[in-house]
Amino acid sequence: MKKRSIYSLTFDQLKEWLVEHGQKKFRAKQVWNWLYKKRVNSFDEMYNLNKDCILVLKENFVMHSLQHEIKQESQDGTIKFLFKLEDGNLIETVLMKFSYGFSVCVTTQVGCNIGCSFCASGLLTKNRDLATGEIVEQIMNVQKHLDKRGNDERVSHIVVMGIGEPFDNYDNTMDFLKVVNDQQGLSIGARHITVSTSGLAHRMYDFADENMQVNLALSLHAPNNELRTKIMKINKAFPLEKLMPAVDYYLEKTNRRITFEYILLKDVNDHKEEAIQLVELLKDKKHLSYVNLIPYNPVDEHNQYDRSEKQAILDFYQVLLENGINCGVRVEHGTDIDAACGQLRSKQIKKDKQKA
Ligand code: SAH
Ligand code: SF4
Repeated sequence: MKKRSIYSLTFDQLKEWLVEHGQKKFRAKQVWNWLYKKRVNSFDEMYNLNKDCILVLKENFVMHSLQHEIKQESQDGTIKFLFKLEDGNLIETVLMKFSYGFSVCVTTQVGCNIGCSFCASGLLTKNRDLATGEIVEQIMNVQKHLDKRGNDERVSHIVVMGIGEPFDNYDNTMDFLKVVNDQQGLSIGARHITVSTSGLAHRMYDFADENMQVNLALSLHAPNNELRTKIMKINKAFPLEKLMPAVDYYLEKTNRRITFEYILLKDVNDHKEEAIQLVELLKDKKHLSYVNLIPYNPVDEHNQYDRSEKQAILDFYQVLLENGINCGVRVEHGTDIDAACGQLRSKQIKKDKQKA
């Protein structure tokens, strides 16, 4: 049987597993200390565990299910990591430096089945979900990279906005959140973590019920069904009549703000008319809404789209602002290194195919 990554287990799951395998409960705390605080690279380094415990862990778990492939470093400090999984699939992870700390963008699936018309990840349909450990290991790899620099730098923020739809891999994404947030481990504050969904409404209800303090972002991209279906085919299954009640439920249940992501595509969804429709859509929840306007990152294969003109972006922003909608324009990172999510991976896959 294929061994799981030790990073797949939440603290409680590890405790239970150890007891089931004849070990003492308190070992879980020791193992997590080695994994997440001392950040060792092998079970043999966990010297305060007894031999029997190390052996049973080694027999059942691996510590490295990601293999580092390529690293691209941008002038602004952004680093893209490309990792190979045990089955040969490639995924990418991005480290960004902000004034408030280091943020990591993680991948949750190999490819994506939602197939949004502007996205590099959706070009390659989903191959499989990532295991919890494969998501956690992305953070561990980046943190270990920071550790090596020796400046006491720490991953302080996470955005679940890499390749894949996190709510289509719901359980593993939730376990991932529990692991990275746990105070006995990396202790990354829930309020510093954001999960982005293309709008799987039924899962938005579940997420509201989780009672976590993790932030939610919804990729809206259009203020009416006709346009949204054109840009994102998932809107057929979850049109605005299904999506907005899920938003309302989330807001009521959590009293936490939602970020609405809106990619500006030239002459498609960037007119004043759409800005006004967006204001109308959000008018009864202004106090709990934030609109993030995202300049489109051109993707080679989606040449039907262009980035909106600067003036169009400003005009759109102005309409939202004048109508009391909290909003901002996303500052881009790593534009010199295949910035759009999924781009590095899809380019590498193309290169590998050419070689084959
Ligand atoms: N599947 C989830 C999370 C991953 S995508 C979702 O769709 O929300 C994360 C964000 O990147 C989304 O808001 C998505 O719309 C955006 N994105 C995808 N392709 C992009 C591109 N070419 N330019 C700019 N943003 C893009
Ligand atoms: Fe999937 Fe998100 Fe890309 Fe849409 S934008 S194809 S949901 S990764």
